Amino acid sequence: MSELSDSRIGSDYASLHRRNLLLMREVDHLSTLREIGLAISGSLELRETLPLIANVVQGALDLRRLAIYELLEERGCLRPIVAKYGDDLILADRLEEETESRRGTPFGECIDARRVLLQPGPPYPAAYVPLFAKHKALGVMLLEAPRSDEPFSSDDAQLFRDIGAQVAIALQNNQLYALAVNDGLTGLFVRRYFDLQLKDAFAQGERYGRLFSMLLFDIDHFKKFNDTHGHQTGDLVLQQFAQLLRESTRESDICCRYGGEEMAIILPETPMEEAHLLAAKLCKKIRGHAFTGTDGQALSVTSSIGVAEFGKGYQTPEDILRACDDALYEAKRNGRNRVEIALRPGG
Ligand code: GH3
Ligand code: MG
Ligand code: MG
Repeated sequence: MSELSDSRIGSDYASLHRRNLLLMREVDHLSTLREIGLAISGSLELRETLPLIANVVQGALDLRRLAIYELLEERGCLRPIVAKYGDDLILADRLEEETESRRGTPFGECIDARRVLLQPGPPYPAAYVPLFAKHKALGVMLLEAPRSDEPFSSDDAQLFRDIGAQVAIALQNNQLYALAVNDGLTGLFVRRYFDLQLKDAFAQGERYGRLFSMLLFDIDHFKKFNDTHGHQTGDLVLQQFAQLLRESTRESDICCRYGGEEMAIILPETPMEEAHLLAAKLCKKIRGHAFTGTDGQALSVTSSIGVAEFGKGYQTPEDILRACDDALYEAKRNGRNRVEIALRPGG
């Protein structure tokens, strides 16, 4: 009798223990998903969210390697946008050569089957997790080499699918955000984004004394340029002009298409002297650049540039913008293809 109840107690205990383990696992899953949710809601910019997501997923799943790929549908391939190899976090610009084909690979297979694909290895267990948002395939998350060296289970696959759904939301948010803030022709930020950033820089300047400068560009005689070479060539020149600005400035500088052939750059932490030097360098670079038209012909344009620096005399962001615009028009009046700096407020 007592032996029997002992064995019942033993089996009840074992079953409780099993349920407890399952519950703990569930809590782990939920807390991983919550952390990823927090990482995603912290920012709309993948530059900020991807490293957080990669760290959280690697930590929670105790993996040696993971990578997130975005699907480039028209090129039929997947390009890695973040990877974690051991303790090394690797961002898109250092992963360019690791692009994978969609056809005939586990990447394409998991997308086509719309489910997590588990591979036991060798060399090590791997899981290909398709990233879908609203039925649209956006990419694949590759999870590899758990530190436990145990193969992944179907329970794991369920968690990976849920994590994948969260990551897909981050990718989709970012795509929508990029559509909203980037100009379709040049890829530079749109005017509305510029206005918000200027407002922000101005508030930071007032509150914390952070200085910034800004440049305004207006291409010279662009109407005539279009009349002579055609609007399509004009568009190509605008694209190359934008590219020139981007590659000549820092990652932290904010390059915008302010209007038709007018561009603006916000230069954080940059005093007037530096901004003026950059403007002069850009003016020269634009003048000497061989732009290419639709027929491959080499063309040249020039730009007038206004420069202004944040200072105590400006009461509002519109004041500094107006001063910069005045400087730009001064450059036009003084013969174009040149730089003028804004008068300091009250100066
Ligand atoms: P300036 O600035 O030197 O005084 O002369 P401008 O001829 O450049 O001046 P204006 O601002 O009057 O004209 C700007 C021209 O830029 C008019 C328009 O044809 C051209 N433009 C504006 N947006 C685009 C665009 O998206 N594509 C092309 N191809 N041209 C554009
Ligand atoms: Mg203009
Ligand atoms: Mg112009």
